[in-house]
Amino acid sequence: MAKIGINIATGSLQQEEMIVGIDLGTTNSLVAIIHPESKKPVALKEHNSSSLVPSIIHFGEDGAVSVGETARNYLVNDPANTIFSAKRLMGKSYDDIRKNASFFTYKVIDDNSDSLVKVQVGDKFYSPIELSAFILKELKTRAEHILKTPVSKAVITVPAYFNDAQRQATRDAGKLAGLDVLRIINEPTAASLAYGLGIHKEDEKTIAVYDLGGGTFDISILRISNGIFEVMSTNGDTYLGGDDFDHAIVMKWIREHGIDATQVEQDKMLLQQLRLKAEEAKRHLGQKDVFIDHVGKYQLQITTSEFEKLIDPLVKKTLEASERALKDAGLTTADIDDVVMVGGSTRVNLVKKEVARFFGKPLHASLNPDEVVALGAAVQAEILAGNNKDFLLLDITPLSLGIETMGGLMDVLIPRNSKIPTRIARQYTTQKDGQSGIKISVYQGERDLVKDNRKLAAFNLTGIPSMPAGLPKVELTFLINADGILVVKAKELRSGVEQAIEVKPQYGLTDEEVESMLMESIVHAKEDIAIRSLVEAQTEASQMIDTTVAFINKNREYLEEAEIAATTNAIDQLNQSIATGTKDEIQARIEALNELSRPYAERVMDLAIAKAMKGKKI
Ligand code: ADP
Ligand code: MG
Repeated sequence: MAKIGINIATGSLQQEEMIVGIDLGTTNSLVAIIHPESKKPVALKEHNSSSLVPSIIHFGEDGAVSVGETARNYLVNDPANTIFSAKRLMGKSYDDIRKNASFFTYKVIDDNSDSLVKVQVGDKFYSPIELSAFILKELKTRAEHILKTPVSKAVITVPAYFNDAQRQATRDAGKLAGLDVLRIINEPTAASLAYGLGIHKEDEKTIAVYDLGGGTFDISILRISNGIFEVMSTNGDTYLGGDDFDHAIVMKWIREHGIDATQVEQDKMLLQQLRLKAEEAKRHLGQKDVFIDHVGKYQLQITTSEFEKLIDPLVKKTLEASERALKDAGLTTADIDDVVMVGGSTRVNLVKKEVARFFGKPLHASLNPDEVVALGAAVQAEILAGNNKDFLLLDITPLSLGIETMGGLMDVLIPRNSKIPTRIARQYTTQKDGQSGIKISVYQGERDLVKDNRKLAAFNLTGIPSMPAGLPKVELTFLINADGILVVKAKELRSGVEQAIEVKPQYGLTDEEVESMLMESIVHAKEDIAIRSLVEAQTEASQMIDTTVAFINKNREYLEEAEIAATTNAIDQLNQSIATGTKDEIQARIEALNELSRPYAERVMDLAIAKAMKGKKI
């Protein structure tokens, strides 16, 4: 991985810089490299210590900041100044986390619920990007200490469900930590790389990656062929992981001691102590059948079968998500060749048992489940360093991308689960005569109305030469590059006028070009069909009215007063339905207007044909 070369000009030795792989986890983070001799990925660690660095930051009164194990010790005694699970806040607004707000024992700012969250420590405010940067800086320092060489280039992994904003936030955190982030890759892609699945060109496999960490669950279905990794579908739950196992144990103990749950919520220190004990119990129960201990005056006890009963519904939820992922990929468990286990929580016996039963196969669990993502990131780093050219990595978009069209409807250009890099072009036109500009608003999400989706950016294509409505050809191109960054380009083909925008989230450390971004929770709702058909009926009705009015104005001389009066009346009624009516009512009135105008429309048409034929001999 590290190459030594001689600079001919100066005669000095040059060491080619090592690229490290980083798993920036919700609970734990770590660095891995490809071992220069064995050529195998290894996690970096100091002698006799764990490779895992708890993703925890403590801010001391004297301004001292500690990260990792040291910070972890403050969880109990100084919870307000000890930040854990910062990854859960990446790219989120307070509205996004409101229902889970009690989870955080530190202060998450809630005064402006729309904007991105900040964490308050004393009189200072930190963004999740800055918090992640503290962790990355610590990882960089540790790696430099262990490798005894500067480390400034990295591949960082993110969950497959991270959206563009969250990926960019991770990139920004890297930059802030002094790292050149060469690539952001999906955790499941990294995990399969670590297992070397598909390393032989002739390998053709469909793989399920089951990742149950501390805070999140992520299931991905990958297809490997010709040395190419393709993510077919992803599913998961942003709020399901080992933390929830701990929480379930804590709740059991609270119930047993008749402690008032709201009282514990307020007594953050007791809550943290119970949490840490619960985690200890969970690990213990993997080896033994019973755990007995105490916190203060509270006697604590739990058996393996009690534990399994507590977490069974949580494990079932992961299997339901797995079922959905399979369905999205158009597969059944029988199509899965390999199942890869990732995340510390897959050490729980019940989890392994249930996942193996669900897929009906033995599991890949030989590598350390909490290191496997970082190991894969190191493999990717090796590929980027040019040392392994056999691979090409493909990822997918987790959410649909599109633009706003008439009536506030979402017009999807790149559907979710599309492979990236990808490019798609579609043509649009103007609605009004002489229209010189078109506003393009880019959205991300699965809802039919753009107002329910996330606005990523908006821009105007201006300078379209004056033309009748419908004549300009505006070609809109969506391009997602290998990093998952979206470039939107609009071009009027007749005149060549064009405009492009790179869509990055608003809070990028240096990038201010994005107009606005609404940070609302990303809803995958699909119950909008009724609204969509209403909006479509309204649009159709408006167009019908426009055409009818234009027809009457043009052919007034051939029409009778009564026909015009009746039509005007029908138009008034239709206008009323557009404003307040149901879809069926609008359609009925469109039909009525049609019935009314058809006879004279045909008559006028016949007249026009007769006129055109006049004097012509057949
Ligand atoms: P993340 O990807 O969220 O950072 P990890 O993959 O490091 O998380 O997993 C952390 C989770 O794994 C924690 O909830 C931890 O309690 C759990 N865990 C680690 N070791 C064990 C074990 N032996 N038994 C049960 N759970 C474990
Ligand atoms: Mg993880």
